[in-house]
Amino acid sequence: MNTLTAFRGRFGTALLLAGMALGLGACRPTETSILQRNVLVISIDTLRADHLGIYGYERSSTPKIDDLAKTGTWFRNAYAPSPWTKPSHASLFTGLYPRHHGAASFELGIADDVGHIAETLSGQGFETVAFVSNPALTTHGLERGFQTLEYIERQGRAPTRITPRAVDWLRTRKKERPFFALLHYNDPHADYCARTKFEKRFERDYEGPVTGKIIQLFAHTLGAIELDQADAEHLIDLYDAAIYQLDGQIGALLRAVESEGLLENTLIVLTSDHGEEFLDHGDLQHGLHQFQESVRVPLIFAGPGVSSGGVAQVAVSLIDIAPTIFEHLGIPTASSMDGVSLVPLLVEADSPEAVFDFSRWLFFEANCARPTPQTTLLQPGSERAIQRGAFKLHYDEADESMSLYDLSTDPGETRDVQSEHLELVAEMLVALKTFLAGERPGKPEQISDELLERFRDLGYAGN
Ligand SMILES: [Zn+2]
Repeated sequence: MNTLTAFRGRFGTALLLAGMALGLGACRPTETSILQRNVLVISIDTLRADHLGIYGYERSSTPKIDDLAKTGTWFRNAYAPSPWTKPSHASLFTGLYPRHHGAASFELGIADDVGHIAETLSGQGFETVAFVSNPALTTHGLERGFQTLEYIERQGRAPTRITPRAVDWLRTRKKERPFFALLHYNDPHADYCARTKFEKRFERDYEGPVTGKIIQLFAHTLGAIELDQADAEHLIDLYDAAIYQLDGQIGALLRAVESEGLLENTLIVLTSDHGEEFLDHGDLQHGLHQFQESVRVPLIFAGPGVSSGGVAQVAVSLIDIAPTIFEHLGIPTASSMDGVSLVPLLVEADSPEAVFDFSRWLFFEANCARPTPQTTLLQPGSERAIQRGAFKLHYDEADESMSLYDLSTDPGETRDVQSEHLELVAEMLVALKTFLAGERPGKPEQISDELLERFRDLGYAGN
């Protein structure tokens, strides 16, 4: 039995037993109710967890999202398996880590023999729609199974028009069919910008060169310019303004869901594909590193079968979303998934001590290498990590350097404690290397010039 199977078995069994203890079997949806259940996944690109009110942020940047979380159950320690858009979303859709679904680098897509949740649900009679605002979601197999997929580009300071398009669709769709909808908002992603009234709300005094434009952030990554803490704080102000503006869009969306009478029969999942760096460890944006600011994301469930006011503590990952949706709908999960269903935790959240649950191991991979002025496409990086309980081990495959952090006392990952935990480090390293050895080749795909241009606008394609 490999490490992954062992962890999956232990954790899956624990959840299953918890579910049985709670009489979950009796709550399983009947054939009729399955057909009436909808799923609405809201993915907010680049939204780091600690910038939401419920996750302890001191600024009121997410009042509507916080309200949604309070009506349902949210996960305090939720993680993306990769610090950038494509691998993370592919994990959300497949229940697999990037090295198991294949879409782990810029050129590679989801392998043909890997199932996509939209394909499965389409085959089960669901209407499957996606309104997305990041080009990474329109290609490389991420688009598979969506009967409708529209790319909606952001224009200027106004919010991306995902909510108006989704509301229009909610009102005109064929009501007799259940739906699986993905709404993807790119608004917090650089360029950081929002309407002036929102920026004024968050801006502190600042005199400096920073504009929030991606080209400037990229110049810092390349080492062409150097930004300091005051610059980073100004970037945070602009980022928070974008989040606040986006939060209003989520509020409008949820009002439409309610007015369409869908709150009773729609599972709502809100999350993000990765966080964002503001010089926390010297860099900006995302993609390079596996630190908390890049991989800790919000995860909220609300709707039928979800307890109100629940806060779960155990470390979970985007790979758990697909199996959770499948169990919620009563649809058997593909046995090859890495993720586990979180349904028992939606019925009753765990205790604060669960954060120290050493039976759940999470892996982090598929980062990008630091670009150079000569890079035309982002290249695969070598930074990996494994998290077990409150401990997180970073490991660089290129030079085999390591660092261990105790997240319970050092959530900012500033103090390397590997010398105090040599046995644990050895065990975690074996588990990580075993995981890394099991790679499935991704599917090489051509990228059109038009798509490449869209990627360039988002800083994904270098110069
Ligand atoms: Zn992203």
